[in-house]
Amino acid sequence: MSFLSVILGAIMATKEDIITLPNPHLREKSKKIGVITDEVKKVVQDMQAATIDWEQSRSHEVGVALAAIQIDQLLKIVVVRNNYDNKEDQSFTVFINPEITKLDGEIIEDYEGCLSIKDIYGKVPRYSKVKVKALDLQGREFRVTAEGFLARIFQHEIDHCNGTVFIDHIKDKPEAFYRLKDDGALEPLDYDKEIKNSDILWG
Ligand SMILES: [Zn+2]
Repeated sequence: MSFLSVILGAIMATKEDIITLPNPHLREKSKKIGVITDEVKKVVQDMQAATIDWEQSRSHEVGVALAAIQIDQLLKIVVVRNNYDNKEDQSFTVFINPEITKLDGEIIEDYEGCLSIKDIYGKVPRYSKVKVKALDLQGREFRVTAEGFLARIFQHEIDHCNGTVFIDHIKDKPEAFYRLKDDGALEPLDYDKEIKNSDILWG
């Protein structure tokens, strides 16, 4: 490793590195990782640092998870917070090349937000159970079964790896869009005025 890359390696990503709509990269498909190099590990560190930095700038939200494309890296990597009910716990689990192997249970509609879509929330239908297969940072395969909110997180993040954002699932549903108010409450959005023809959301 050169002197310069040691210096650069010490610079952590911040919330400014998170890309948001209308950036077209958010609708591109991420690439599968072959070898887990130091560059891949740096992307993972940056994803975690950017998520925590973002969270610290938001009063009513928790940074529960991030996909690599959200810091403009078209790689199949997802990080999920280990304990999103406790902001003090800043640890994550890393999923390299995550894949949903089974969708199960019932379809449930619930609120969802995204670090790449500022202040907009949506009521998105998702399966209540998923099975996920991925590699850890040592390249070992592992599997996870998730239910409820965690199942929703996996569907949302693995969508990112495939170039889909949550609003794409509800684009024809006027009643599914909400705005996060300054006091943390959600209020319905005017679909015809603010959503339907938005250049920011639909490109
Ligand atoms: Zn997202």
